[in-house]
Amino acid sequence: MCLNAADDMNGTVRHDTSWRIGGLAKGSRISDRHRITDHGSRLLPDWLTPMTCDLCDNDGGVVLWRDERCRVVRVDEPGYPGYCRVIWNAHVKEMSDLPARERAHCLEVVFAVEATLRQLLSPDKINLASLGNMTPHLHWHVIPRLREDPHFPNAIWSRPLREPCSADAHPALATFGAALAAQLENTGQPPTS
Ligand SMILES: [Zn+2]
Repeated sequence: MCLNAADDMNGTVRHDTSWRIGGLAKGSRISDRHRITDHGSRLLPDWLTPMTCDLCDNDGGVVLWRDERCRVVRVDEPGYPGYCRVIWNAHVKEMSDLPARERAHCLEVVFAVEATLRQLLSPDKINLASLGNMTPHLHWHVIPRLREDPHFPNAIWSRPLREPCSADAHPALATFGAALAAQLENTGQPPTS
């Protein structure tokens, strides 16, 4: 399930500061003047920039491709074969936090994933989304859309209109990793690891 993204779209706010305080336990001393306190709903100042989060600690899905800067993972969402996320490896909140070269690389990978999914699946549409309200670690959703998918023509985070198709595993996706690598090589973005 795509719980983080669903929460993002609903604007849900949780009183959870774990991403903000880099996994430090409540009461941990972080300087002589400041302590992590039990004020979960209090917004912390910028100097307490997040050092870690779920996407820092975990791949966030089955890794289909990666290089030293970002990774492409498969999202297991019923009714959405080929749904991928492009996740920046470092904890960065916004695209505009990246230097221009890094930003261009991120978008090149997003567009390469899009092109590969179009090549393999011929979807009716591709949806791109960058949300991250609940997990403010830079990532892009790349979602092939089919007219028969559960939410079409609405966003996948809206109320479903129909049941997921039972045949989720598209055979063409078996070649996704190789096809994406070829696509990136064509754009001058070969994987480095
Ligand atoms: Zn992170």
